[in-house]
Amino acid sequence: MGRRPDVFILVLDCVSAHEFSFVAQQFQGLDRVERFLHESAKFERAVAVAPWTLPSHASILAGLYPWELSPDPEKPFRIARPGVRTLPSLLRDLGYRSCCLSANCLVSPLTGLTDDFDACAWGRWWDIYVRTGGLRPPNATTRHGADPAHGSSSKVAPSQNPLLDVAPLLARAPSYGRWVSHVVQKVRSPSSPPTTNIAPWIEPTLRRWLLGQGEDTPVFGFLNLLDAHEPYYPPFSSSGGAKPMPRERVPRQDRTGWLLGRWTPSSHEQEALQRLYRSAIRGLGIRLERILSILEECRRGPDPVIVLTSDHGQAFGSDRALFHSHGTEEALLRVPMYIRAPGLSSGSRPPRGWVSLIDIVPTLLRVIGADTTALPSARAIQDVANDGWSRPVFAYSTGIGMPRASWVSPQVRQAIDGLRTVGYQANKKVTVGPTAGVVETFDLETDPFARTNTSRGREWDAGEPLPEVLAFYERISASRTFAPGLPVERRLKSWGY
Ligand SMILES: [Zn+2]
Repeated sequence: MGRRPDVFILVLDCVSAHEFSFVAQQFQGLDRVERFLHESAKFERAVAVAPWTLPSHASILAGLYPWELSPDPEKPFRIARPGVRTLPSLLRDLGYRSCCLSANCLVSPLTGLTDDFDACAWGRWWDIYVRTGGLRPPNATTRHGADPAHGSSSKVAPSQNPLLDVAPLLARAPSYGRWVSHVVQKVRSPSSPPTTNIAPWIEPTLRRWLLGQGEDTPVFGFLNLLDAHEPYYPPFSSSGGAKPMPRERVPRQDRTGWLLGRWTPSSHEQEALQRLYRSAIRGLGIRLERILSILEECRRGPDPVIVLTSDHGQAFGSDRALFHSHGTEEALLRVPMYIRAPGLSSGSRPPRGWVSLIDIVPTLLRVIGADTTALPSARAIQDVANDGWSRPVFAYSTGIGMPRASWVSPQVRQAIDGLRTVGYQANKKVTVGPTAGVVETFDLETDPFARTNTSRGREWDAGEPLPEVLAFYERISASRTFAPGLPVERRLKSWGY
């Protein structure tokens, strides 16, 4: 066959399926984004494997559920090891060059997720709090070591950084984080318009990298954009001045206080957070337009294959969850999934089958004509899209997961702590946890946000994936271990809790 197409995976971190669909209706004027969404096959039944970044990205790159990646389900994340092939290494065998540009510092050499990429650049953990506006990546490396052309490589794990103590204060009073961001940008580059974008270096770095690749070499680009992650700052342009904003304009976004039971967002605060979240997703649309424009400008070879998805969603306290990391609510587990590729039609009727982030690897390999890997659970979406109604997909939340979590309020612990395993099949969602005896079933046809448990007082129905969900609950709870964590109590005291 001729030259294989370029492949891109664009991860909009923290963007839930429901909110993306809602905001995408207001993408008028973003012509490339509108065309992309129109031409792509859209999967409305796409599920993340977990409500946070690490396991989801590991599953996207390896085509395996987190509990298939590692015997220890608490640590499925060092995926570049014997026996596990990742997408960049499979594509390298086919002649591809690969690059990962991630605003999220967890998708980096710090966690081993990116070890198989030829080049990688990533953000700092505090970029979500202080938006510096820099157009060069703060960290970059290649498979052969640090890349002096793009910045220095940092190996300091986020949790070791003493500045970590300051970050939650900025989340408690995000108006000050926004103000600090403004001041830093004014000092660094007084003539540029201030921006609330996180890691705006991604677009120029992508363009530079693409222009540096040979005409005949197919490329694989993996991008993570983090603008929908909390804390949310109102854009500078619409609000003027550099003073900290009043509380009602930038609501408290204090996850730690929520965990401790010291703060619960009022319905007014929930609405304000939701508005800021939607505005962040609209901002992501603008960045997507720029990225699609760069892909057009740098295009060589056949039409590039593009996957647009997310690693998990985000919640604002109206269900049991706030933000993400723990919990199995629909707002956390359902993600957007758009694929523009030959062989996947963008027909008017959305495919009914369930798809998972693990399906991206075999789907892309099928599209580029290299469908050779044998993965235990993942399926090429081409196969499940229309007749996959009976195929279940799974997810899990490991909870706060520590005996040391005694500082978490009992209400919050009851809502989100403990292992919970989830299966989706046909119109049913089944969850097991936080103990093996607690089973909840939801009928998504009549209850799309899965808020009403229908399992009380009735027998298990053969159309529900309960046996599988129970089996992997048992397996994970039998093998889980707890890693020693941060000195949590000390930090909480230092933050004034
Ligand atoms: Zn994430």
